[in-house]
Amino acid sequence: MVRLLGRSLLFIVLTILTQVGGVVYLLSIFVSGRFVRSVSWEVPHWVVKVVSFIALYCIAICTVVPALAALYGRVRMPMFTSHHIRPVTIWTCLLNRNYVRPQLRSAVYEVGDKMAAKYPGTNINYLDANFPFFNGFPLLPHLSHNDGKKLDLSFCYDHGSTGTPTNDVPSFIGYGICEEPLPGEVNTAEGCYAKGYRQYSILRYIVPQGAKANFAFNAQRTKGLVSLLVLHKAIDKIFIEPHLKSRLGLSSSKVRFHSCRAVRHDDHVHIQVR
Ligand SMILES: [Zn+2]
Repeated sequence: MVRLLGRSLLFIVLTILTQVGGVVYLLSIFVSGRFVRSVSWEVPHWVVKVVSFIALYCIAICTVVPALAALYGRVRMPMFTSHHIRPVTIWTCLLNRNYVRPQLRSAVYEVGDKMAAKYPGTNINYLDANFPFFNGFPLLPHLSHNDGKKLDLSFCYDHGSTGTPTNDVPSFIGYGICEEPLPGEVNTAEGCYAKGYRQYSILRYIVPQGAKANFAFNAQRTKGLVSLLVLHKAIDKIFIEPHLKSRLGLSSSKVRFHSCRAVRHDDHVHIQVR
């Protein structure tokens, strides 16, 4: 009974984290059991289970998942830099959180190339996208990344000490280190908190803030990025915190407030296609 509960819990956790990890886990139980019965080596069963899971999971995410995702109209964002677009962390790819509709990837690739032409040396970091399968399957903790149409991008930064542009970002997961409102700017985070939306700044308090001093928000390049996104006809909506919309002088109706039910968007920009 305890074993069944443990396996069920692991199945659920792996499914929530990776969408396919739970299924691969069940397969690895079967494969590792067959393997242990068929060889005479004295290998602990748990070692065979772990190795089986890792091997099967790697095979699945590199071959089976991308092929099947195509049937659901989704393609992978790149694991390594392509068209000046790269993941902020390789875990985004390893956890299958990098799938989008083809038109969204094409749009981001075009914007990446244009950014690099305008600001040589610039690479754009992408964050969470969507899982490979099923509309409506949640990509926690996001409210809406469930149909292949959504993608988060990092802002652009300078080195904090030298002021020279960098492609690195202050947060190791890309979220949670915010470009806070300046005196006189609207403070949406405070307003949402006051209305009872306690989750609005949650990542700000979970993610370590130590690296923030090593970076400075680059308003010019970030405005350049959002402006190119605005101009692309495939991009339908862009979410960014209201004080940054105002600070960067973004007037397009595509640039909107995401509501207090989401989390703050002064640590990244959210884009979506129709
Ligand atoms: Zn988003």
